[in-house]
Amino acid sequence: MSDLTSLALPHVAKLHAYTPGLQPTESGWVKLNTNECPYPPSPRVAEALREEIGAEGASLRLYPNPKSTPLRGVVAKLHGHGLTEANVVIGNGSDDILNLLIRAFCTQEAVAGFTLPSYSLYPVLVAIQDGRSSCVEFDRTMKLPLEKIAASTARTFFLTSPNAPTGVAFSNAELERALMSFHGLFVVDEAYAPFAEEDAIPLLARHPNLVVVRTLSKAHALAGIRVGYALAHPDIIDLLDRVRDSYNVSRLSQTAAIAALGDGAYYAGVIAKIKATRDRCVREFAVGRGWFTYESQANFIFTEPKNARGESGAAVSKSAYDFLFAHKVLVRHFPSHALTAPFLRLSVGTDDEMLVLSETLDAWLKTTNA
Ligand code: PMP
Repeated sequence: MSDLTSLALPHVAKLHAYTPGLQPTESGWVKLNTNECPYPPSPRVAEALREEIGAEGASLRLYPNPKSTPLRGVVAKLHGHGLTEANVVIGNGSDDILNLLIRAFCTQEAVAGFTLPSYSLYPVLVAIQDGRSSCVEFDRTMKLPLEKIAASTARTFFLTSPNAPTGVAFSNAELERALMSFHGLFVVDEAYAPFAEEDAIPLLARHPNLVVVRTLSKAHALAGIRVGYALAHPDIIDLLDRVRDSYNVSRLSQTAAIAALGDGAYYAGVIAKIKATRDRCVREFAVGRGWFTYESQANFIFTEPKNARGESGAAVSKSAYDFLFAHKVLVRHFPSHALTAPFLRLSVGTDDEMLVLSETLDAWLKTTNA
């Protein structure tokens, strides 16, 4: 440890940063690794940004609305169910919201719970706050482990639904059973809910300990603009506002988000296209190739590659990953957990991109014949 590192708080000195999916800077990649939208955002977004910037960018001199108040209003109205501005907090991406939740609710004593596998940022955020976490393990069925959640002593529990990286969604009936038995704060991370059959927002009115987290990075094609939000009881929103940076969402991000959320018809079309491609590809992998593939309600597919000899496993999925990478098709492999290592996660791209993926996998299969 260098002298400078030893000046840091002990938990920071031993921290391992979150590793985001690769963001290549050169062109020519088929990028199916970070679940971005393969289609552009609503044309209203660029229009609104141009208007906000104006001829000389004069508005950029000024700080943004500190609470993103107009955007809170738009979000509340969009979701209905009696929600008002007081039920909404906006974040610099939903990662910011997850961080605020950990900052406000998690310590060594107030443990943060989550499932394994799930979004791997949660334990990193807990470690940053020097908090403690406890995990509830899925089995290969990826069904919600309700008894284990009920037995959890966590103060706050994070559940991703649809789950990442599997794409498996949990029904509101299951979520309600979890909510009845768990008495801490129950956070449902709905980054992928726009692609699912159900979402947990109707449950908010009945369960004041529920927090629903959303992002505009996926279905709304705005990963680059960094906007996410939480919906919750006003007392929880008030706590999150206390630990939030005062100007946590830029002027341009607020403008882009308002424009995007105002164009529901455009996004209904985008979501329908992505779901159609997803369902076709799930069938192609599961039935066509005979690879075990979870039923996905997200914008990605979790599939277990088999080589030409019919073998699967961590080494086989790594071999497929490496071959795809060498051919500039970028997907995701999670080798660090036994339930995820034999699989690849494939973000749903355009039909053309999925065709390139499929042809490259055919070429990989031929190399495994020997
Ligand atoms: N939750 C889940 C489950 C995710 O997969 C992601 C994106 N990787 C996020 C939250 C964060 O998304 P963003 O910060 O772009 O809103």
